[in-house]
Amino acid sequence: MTSAENMADDIVGQPEPNTLRGSDARSAAVDIPAGTVVLAATPIGNIGDASARLVALLERADIVAAEDTRRLYDLARRLGVYVSGRVVAYHDHNERSKADGLLDQVETGATVLVVSDAGMPTINDPGLAIVRRAIERGLPVTCAPGPSAVLDALALSGLPTDRFCYEGFLPRKHSERVQALRALLPERRTIVFYETPHRIADSMDDLLDAFGPNRAMALCRELTKDYEQIRRGTIGEIHQSVINDPPRGEMVLVIGGASSEEAEAAAPNSLSIEDLAVLAIDRALEDGLRIKDAIAQVVQEHPLPDGSLANRKQVYAAVLEIKG
Ligand code: SAM
Repeated sequence: MTSAENMADDIVGQPEPNTLRGSDARSAAVDIPAGTVVLAATPIGNIGDASARLVALLERADIVAAEDTRRLYDLARRLGVYVSGRVVAYHDHNERSKADGLLDQVETGATVLVVSDAGMPTINDPGLAIVRRAIERGLPVTCAPGPSAVLDALALSGLPTDRFCYEGFLPRKHSERVQALRALLPERRTIVFYETPHRIADSMDDLLDAFGPNRAMALCRELTKDYEQIRRGTIGEIHQSVINDPPRGEMVLVIGGASSEEAEAAAPNSLSIEDLAVLAIDRALEDGLRIKDAIAQVVQEHPLPDGSLANRKQVYAAVLEIKG
């Protein structure tokens, strides 16, 4: 690391060591593993969720690799902790390039603490690169677990928790988001997404389109904070509530998994273009539709396994061929 980087990393603003009596007792009782990478979860809103291990690690780790050094010092100030180790910025843009340098320090016996701005490192936050490199280099890596919005929201949603999948943030682009949602239609497990206030209205529109109005869901916002709010209902109801009262702050969406009937109906398309053409011909006859409208319906109802849709022109060509 250059001295300029060092200076940039050493941001002022943490309390003096002699002001830190409050955390001493908690910190002293905790073992700090030498020569180890430690990932530690930080509060996602409520400072009271900081663990005794987090406090001890902040005070005594040799190096603290933090997603945002200002936020680290803010956390330390709120906890009344003096960060005695060297602080380095460790974020999405440099985590790969910095991992080996940090691990060299681990090799010499240093404790390297990895923290993100909030919640568990590696969960849509930096940390995975150093975990992977530590594994590759045979160096110890451990975790001081704690708050994470995924589990908090899942537990509060009231939806089944025995099997769930975490999908991170939905894609930003509408077409990719719709494709991702269609691919999840047959998912039987409870589904957890992270979402942002400026995309929630569009995402709810797409959820309604893809899943229909009747699936159960929960919109969980400002978890652990004073204004924590859980909106529970069907997708149709939550869609309307987002229009009536746009939610602000941080949020997580939890969607009920498909019933067996829904999963069967939405099972990935193993139908060929010719199968779709036959279905479209039948649909046009039964429902008195124009063939192009029948094709559009059939194609929409049978997405391919990756959530994309079969090419309507190819289905139309197959229809013409069948009809001779
Ligand atoms: N590593 C974090 C964790 O373990 O939860 C997640 C970091 S990710 C960059 C930030 C997203 O997590 C937010 O956009 C939001 O979707 C979710 N999130 C974090 N804190 C939250 C909170 N207090 N309430 C609701 N959602 C939260």
